[in-house]
Amino acid sequence: MSIKTVGVVGAGTMGNGIVQVCAAAGLEVIMQDIGEAQVERGLNTIAGSLERLIKKEKISAADKAATLTNIETTTSLEELADVDIVIEAATENEALKLDIFAQLDKLCKPGAILASNTSSISLTKIAGATARADQVIGMHFMNPVPMMALVEVIRALQTSDATYQAVHQLSEAIGKIPIEAKDSPGFVANRILIPMINEAAYVYYEGLASAEGIDEIMKLGMAHPMGPLMLADLIGLDTCYAVIKVLHEGFGDSKYRPCPIWQQMVDAGYLGRKTGRGFYSYDD
Ligand code: NAD
Repeated sequence: MSIKTVGVVGAGTMGNGIVQVCAAAGLEVIMQDIGEAQVERGLNTIAGSLERLIKKEKISAADKAATLTNIETTTSLEELADVDIVIEAATENEALKLDIFAQLDKLCKPGAILASNTSSISLTKIAGATARADQVIGMHFMNPVPMMALVEVIRALQTSDATYQAVHQLSEAIGKIPIEAKDSPGFVANRILIPMINEAAYVYYEGLASAEGIDEIMKLGMAHPMGPLMLADLIGLDTCYAVIKVLHEGFGDSKYRPCPIWQQMVDAGYLGRKTGRGFYSYDD
């Protein structure tokens, strides 16, 4: 199947990045979120990101205009009824995603693929919330989407080869490199990354070093481009917490026990860059 139109559910950190790369590749995209403020913020983020690419001379002003022309916004899920694929990038919460997929299944045209950008939740379970389980798949983009090459493509147990091939082709068409992973808590990327970030949170919680100290140790000592706590702020502390809980519950293994600091930070509204404060402050 040749995909020309894309619906993206969720205009947050990941959703607006996915919209940007799809629109830049010439696809028609509808970006949906629950309120006007959220879609407007998403659109502003895209405009800012395109502006930075112009400054770096990676795209022209005409490219920016063409990309923005390909984007429509809405607060109504029903507006996605005619798209070829929906990529869901709403908050990492299983009940919420199951509900969104059940709704999408009812309103989207037959044959439309339903993909989720979930970081950790079972695609097999998400597919089970629909009557088109063979057309459900995971498309796990990396943050920030316009900069990162990988899309981890996760097949639910029910995913058909045709769905997998279509998503593989789409990923390449939008300039990404798709790599297949099996459906298991955290898949591959977050099975490895999030326990490391959780351990960094414990090290911070136990007062073994400052946030800056922990990050510098991992940057200078392991050649990581960004320290784990700054990366947690980029990902979103609520998302990190949600993923480590999925690993802990999914494997029933105490090695994944969440650091208590996640709950405190989430309760305080310190979610990282998106709220201006996490392990670090982002006053600007
Ligand atoms: P975010 O908090 O930045 O954005 C989530 C958006 O979803 C918000 O704008 C919110 O209003 C919207 N939303 C909530 N309920 C909705 C609903 N019912 N319908 C439509 N929109 C709704 O979160 P994010 O970081 O963009 O994460 C989105 C998804 O991407 C999650 O599943 C997350 O695990 C995954 N993900 C995140 C990262 C990352 O680094 N942040 C990386 C890969 C995957």
